[in-house]
Amino acid sequence: MIDRFGRKIEYMRISITDRCNLRCRYCMPAGIKTEKLPMDKILTYEEIVEVVRAAVDCGITRFKITGGEPLARKGCPELIRMIKKIPGVQQVTMTTNGVLLEKFLPELMDAGLDAVNISLDTLNPQTFKVITGYDYFENVIRGINSAVDAGLPVKINSVLQKGVNDNEWEELINIAKDKKADVRFIEMMPIGCGRDYEEVSNEKVFQRIRDKYPAVIEDISIHGNGPARYVKIPGFMGSIGFISAIHGKFCGECNRIRLTAAGRIKPCLCYGNTYDVFSVFRGNETSDIYSEKSRHEMLKSVIRKAVNNKPAQHCFEKLSEITESREMVKIGG
Ligand code: SAM
Ligand code: SF4
Repeated sequence: MIDRFGRKIEYMRISITDRCNLRCRYCMPAGIKTEKLPMDKILTYEEIVEVVRAAVDCGITRFKITGGEPLARKGCPELIRMIKKIPGVQQVTMTTNGVLLEKFLPELMDAGLDAVNISLDTLNPQTFKVITGYDYFENVIRGINSAVDAGLPVKINSVLQKGVNDNEWEELINIAKDKKADVRFIEMMPIGCGRDYEEVSNEKVFQRIRDKYPAVIEDISIHGNGPARYVKIPGFMGSIGFISAIHGKFCGECNRIRLTAAGRIKPCLCYGNTYDVFSVFRGNETSDIYSEKSRHEMLKSVIRKAVNNKPAQHCFEKLSEITESREMVKIGG
């Protein structure tokens, strides 16, 4: 689908749970008061598959499974297998904190997962605990190693925080030196608890990289579905990417919509408005339960409405205009 601003919308991020086995301080910090959705208020895998079928008919061909933590929901590999079987689906990838990745990797590979993004902000186990609230650093490292060894395309996503891990850019990019994995820096976005942290500008991170590696060059090869810009350091196996939502606004190239675990289609990360698919399945006070054929048409109509209502751009630079009040754990990044 082409939206009002001429952008081709072909990518959907699907959050399958609002629960997580970590408590990242900028996403869902320990102690935060947040209501978890009861299981009967989240889409079943069968319902998600129906949304994907409708999305494919609207021209969306690539899907990212996210959370909360997607591997914390039982049967996640089975969902990936179901989506992979849908005609017209070109790619299914996942973003995970990596804690359970080693354990589920054989099932994920067997299901046909095409690639994985693993979030890792630090190579220091103590800092890992400060950021995530848990001592699972080694699990994540094992998850990364097992995915790379299995030949799955891997990207490491790192969010830098001033005074916490921003001095670790060099250790983090060294992952891409020794392993066939890209390392990407995501600027902190003022969503949920992210508002409490000042972002580290990717421009500055790049300057430091260029000072250390003057031979760094732009990497124009296609790395995925997103807005990341990549560079290549000679001798490194992987590339370095920058997702600069704040200092390098990329809304003109936005190609995505989001499906929340609660069954709402979300046109833009920054705004709270969503379009309801949950009631297409479960009905509401005024509606009946619909047949599969009617549901398919209704789902397409909701997806089209969401795409047609995608705003031109986010407004992260004007905090007072951000209308999304949910935490990132409920949206999926
Ligand atoms: N649990 C999975 C994980 O951590 O990869 C998937 C969900 S998580 C919300 C997806 C990504 O969003 C992670 O890479 C996380 O670091 C990032 N994230 C969370 N809050 C953020 C924020 N305020 N700004 C930028 N990135 C954020
Ligand atoms: Fe969980 Fe991912 Fe949020 Fe961390 S960033 S709390 S791992 S959902």
